[in-house]
Amino acid sequence: MKKDQSKVIREQATRSATREHSVPLYLTSSFIFDSAEQGRAIFADEEEGMVYSRYANPNTSEFINRVCKLENAEAGLSFASGMAAVFASFASFIKSGDHIVSSRAIFGSTHQLLTQLFPRWGVTYTYVDSPAIEEWEKAIQPTTRIVFLESPSNPGLELFDLAELGKLKEKYPHIIFAIDNCFATPYLQQPLQFGFDLSIHSATKYMDGQGRVLGGVVVGKQELIDEMLFFIRHTGPAMSPFNAWTISKSLETLGLRMDRHCSNALALAEALEKNTEIEDVKYPFLPSHPQYELAKRQMKAGGGIVTFEVKGGKERAFKFIDALEMILYTSNLGDSRTIATHPGSTTHSKLTEEERINLGIKPGSIRLSVGLEAQEDIIDDILQALEKTK
Ligand SMILES: *Cc1c(COP(=O)(O)O)cnc(C)c1O
Repeated sequence: MKKDQSKVIREQATRSATREHSVPLYLTSSFIFDSAEQGRAIFADEEEGMVYSRYANPNTSEFINRVCKLENAEAGLSFASGMAAVFASFASFIKSGDHIVSSRAIFGSTHQLLTQLFPRWGVTYTYVDSPAIEEWEKAIQPTTRIVFLESPSNPGLELFDLAELGKLKEKYPHIIFAIDNCFATPYLQQPLQFGFDLSIHSATKYMDGQGRVLGGVVVGKQELIDEMLFFIRHTGPAMSPFNAWTISKSLETLGLRMDRHCSNALALAEALEKNTEIEDVKYPFLPSHPQYELAKRQMKAGGGIVTFEVKGGKERAFKFIDALEMILYTSNLGDSRTIATHPGSTTHSKLTEEERINLGIKPGSIRLSVGLEAQEDIIDDILQALEKTK
């Protein structure tokens, strides 16, 4: 097999004596040893073998191996949720006195980790606003342990130049470069190829892709994953075998689904750009996006999220959401069904007005996670809601 797509689909937990075709669900907390000697050898790392599902399980291992194939990664770990994966990616490495550099536009709970939790443990941070690489280098201090970012960002869909950041990593080899790659998915963007050390995902989003179960995954350099394994073995943020089984199966269709999410999102973004009831449309693969060229260099397609601003501020935005007929309002994303959200009053409501404006979130901003329905049904629903609330 030559192609990643085939390798991902064909990667499977070792077949059992039952000769099943599709992988079974391994609901077992522990694994037996054939002998006392084998138990000793496995615990001493002299022999490979599963011990306990907090460490590894056939379903979670299959899921991790598939993500490694997708991102061309040496190794990986799975987690109960995306936030458990993000937290472990920091907590496995930081100690009191360390410093973190991060893009400012990050997932709400990650912002709370950096600004509320880590300072309690003596870990400080600097936010970078600009995509200019000089600004990132300026933010690095002698105590910087981790450089972290999201690209494209949520909900502003701002990009950072992964190749430039990879070059910065070469200059500061002792610093861990980590990215939350959830919005792009491994199908559209492979940050490890640019020199990043760790790629982090909320598997709850596009990897499951159907809004069913929570999960998280981190893939990257073997030596860093080994260090993280120590942390997770003893703190227990393990992914449940059921969730791993569910999401692993979903990965077989990730590429197909992403192609459709992206073509639907691009068509919608183009339609909205022509609409006079809309102030501003953001989508990385629209030529009007300020980083269109960069998007084309580092992403295979523009992703499934479109952010736009309706005329008439928050009042119109609320009316618009309530006027949608097919599309539902929920705070998830990356689902087969299109989802609308008003970031200003939900995911980003804890920020001040000024902080929101800094992130490009206006009172009339709507974030749309474009689903897999027929393109014209998605566009029609949005146009009728705009028309009704004129
Ligand atoms: C949803 C999300 C997370 C958190 O993932 P959970 O699975 O909900 O814990 C982290 N980062 C990004 C970019 C997300 O969209």
